[in-house]
Amino acid sequence: MSKTIIIGGGFVGLFTVLHLCHHKYPQSVTLIDQKDHFIFNPLLYELMTGEMTPDQVCPTYRELLKGSSATFFEDQVDRIDLEQRKIYLSSDTHYDYDNLVLALGKKSGYFGIEGAENYAFPFRNRDDALKLSQHLQKSLQKAGQTEEDKSRQRLLTFTIVGGGPTGIEMAGTLADLLYRWYSKIGGNLEEIKILLVSRPKELLKGDINAHLRDIVKKAFQHRPIKIDLILGASVSKVTASTVEYQKEEETHSIETNTVIWAAGTQTNPLLRSLNIAPENRAKNGSLHILPTLQLPEYPNVFAAGDCIFQSELHLPPTAQVAYQQGKAIANNLIAKVKGNSLKPAEVKLRGSMMKLGINESAANIFDRFEVSGEVGHLIREATYLELLPTPIHDFKVTTTWIIDEIFHRHSD
Ligand SMILES: Cc1cc2nc3c(=O)[nH]c(=O)nc-3n(C[C@H](O)[C@H](O)[C@H](O)COP(=O)(O)OP(=O)(O)OC[C@H]3O[C@@H](n4cnc5c(N)ncnc54)[C@H](O)[C@@H]3O)c2cc1C
Repeated sequence: MSKTIIIGGGFVGLFTVLHLCHHKYPQSVTLIDQKDHFIFNPLLYELMTGEMTPDQVCPTYRELLKGSSATFFEDQVDRIDLEQRKIYLSSDTHYDYDNLVLALGKKSGYFGIEGAENYAFPFRNRDDALKLSQHLQKSLQKAGQTEEDKSRQRLLTFTIVGGGPTGIEMAGTLADLLYRWYSKIGGNLEEIKILLVSRPKELLKGDINAHLRDIVKKAFQHRPIKIDLILGASVSKVTASTVEYQKEEETHSIETNTVIWAAGTQTNPLLRSLNIAPENRAKNGSLHILPTLQLPEYPNVFAAGDCIFQSELHLPPTAQVAYQQGKAIANNLIAKVKGNSLKPAEVKLRGSMMKLGINESAANIFDRFEVSGEVGHLIREATYLELLPTPIHDFKVTTTWIIDEIFHRHSD
């Protein structure tokens, strides 16, 4: 029996496996991920705020694949030999494969900025969200008990680096969350400061959500805590209690107890180590692929999602693209077994959505409607809950109803 191995159980990897199992793929399928659970990244904010639980946002692979024919191994892949068709794991084991799916995503990127990796909080996974949530609560508690003005102000200053969707969603969410939490302990809300530092002079520069910029600015004005935008500013250093940035050739320093890193990503080091010709890689190390999502030099290897060079396909590196590509890979693996020809992957963009506060979001749907405020929030929640791979029946019933209701209302 031939063996298919999928490395990485994010949106690409998990949806490839689920689709293969759903279609009763007759060959052996193994998923390998370095952690035991999937992460539904768009809902990490809800995990941070406590609106959703870890098992809803990060269900385990064992749970998700229960009763399926696929096998899951929790391990880190350290090396791949594409010529010999072997992968080597941290646990000192190795596997042979016939077909391989590279679904490795990206990692946080710090651009060599001094102190950023050590002192800034990343926000990419379950542990990041839970750790940040705890840190925020501790900072507020401590601030409530601190008499000295300068120290209290530092504890109440929250700095987000990055003016892309993650930075914006974080700023909007914090403005509501910190207000709620600090009110509960009777703190002086006027002392809380949220700063968003961005290198580009405008928010969402070059992003799929760029057309939502005005809605974002308006939503920020209505948050209970002001969000100060520091645009055209390059962060140059982060310490345990400060963040330093350059703007118009001057160096500024902010006293802050919390720096959240939403400023960039880098290629997974495992991808960089692959024996792939330079012309089949983009400048940042991500992979060029054929329209069928195969690697040009190794037709038995597929790759998709954040680890490939999506720009040449004119697609954004997002979850909605990744899960559709996962499905396309599964279809091509099935075609291979049946001896049919492989098809180019088709991805349909359904619009874009952003969380702008606890009960506020903006959604652009099929490029036809732009919806903000609470209705936008309902659409975002409903869409994501629909996509959650766990069969949570109650959610599905409610969300289908919400989607029908909203589309009906807005297409009149
Ligand atoms: C906070 C946040 C919010 C987001 N919000 C949205 C949104 O609202 N809408 C949207 O469309 N997109 C959103 N995204 C982007 C989206 O999450 C990504 O585009 C998507 O996850 C890419 O899927 P992927 O499968 O390529 O990679 P990932 O989902 O990152 O999965 C990669 C997997 O590979 C595993 N892995 C990596 N290296 C190894 C190794 N050496 N060995 C074993 N396993 C390994 C990782 O553990 C991980 O499970 C958001 C991202 C973040 C961080």
